Amino acid sequence: MELKLLHLYHDIMDLYGDKGNIKTLEYRCKMRNIDFIYDTCSIGEQKDYSSYNLIFMGGGADKEQLMLSQDLQNKREGLEKALKDNVFFLLICGGYQLFGQYYVNANGEKIQGLKFFPYRTEKSQKNDRCIGNIYIDVELGDDKFKILGFENHGGQTYDADDKYFGKVIFGNGNHYNSKYEGFFYKNVIGTYMHGPLLPKNPNLADFIIKKSLSKDYKEVELSALDDSFENMAKQELLYNLGYKEV
Ligand code: GLN
Repeated sequence: MELKLLHLYHDIMDLYGDKGNIKTLEYRCKMRNIDFIYDTCSIGEQKDYSSYNLIFMGGGADKEQLMLSQDLQNKREGLEKALKDNVFFLLICGGYQLFGQYYVNANGEKIQGLKFFPYRTEKSQKNDRCIGNIYIDVELGDDKFKILGFENHGGQTYDADDKYFGKVIFGNGNHYNSKYEGFFYKNVIGTYMHGPLLPKNPNLADFIIKKSLSKDYKEVELSALDDSFENMAKQELLYNLGYKEV
């Protein structure tokens, strides 16, 4: 089997270890003898987006989001086709925001999104950011687990709540004190959780690998890996954060 990943705007959208998510996917594929093919696509480039299993876009500062906004619209048609062709999308923070209606940045500039989904991201009224560790409960089909990550965003996302990715246990989520985090619909996960997302949450990494492969392969079964180190890292952080019910 082969998993082909396209990293959108790899050179400008990569905050707080977003690239670590790709390293995790690569490692977990290699351990199962699944070929992992990594490709990139940035400003001024076009790819056959539907030919990939997984498209990944990380987070970025307002400046970078503004810089790529026109180019992203040039990619709209191909990306929409890929969505329909069942390519899996993992979108982090700034990437998540730009697949929705729009993002009003800290300076009040409105950056148009791809408008594939109904959610919109407004400027933070308090001129403050949602920063810190975040823990959520997710239910992805038959898979139920808790995910630990880190968020750092000014944008406040609304109208994602009926298709949320997880229920917030602690942290902010889509906006200040939100009950919900991110967006999950069919073959798309949008989330505010950055780099620690997949390294610390192997269940989620495997869910994404399976879904991505299912575009091209029937009945994908992944062999179990030893996740004791990953689970230990997660439990240690939860313990240090004072969260007892691990
Ligand atoms: N610039 C956006 C915001 O502040 C996205 C930030 C990010 O990707 N971490 O909300």
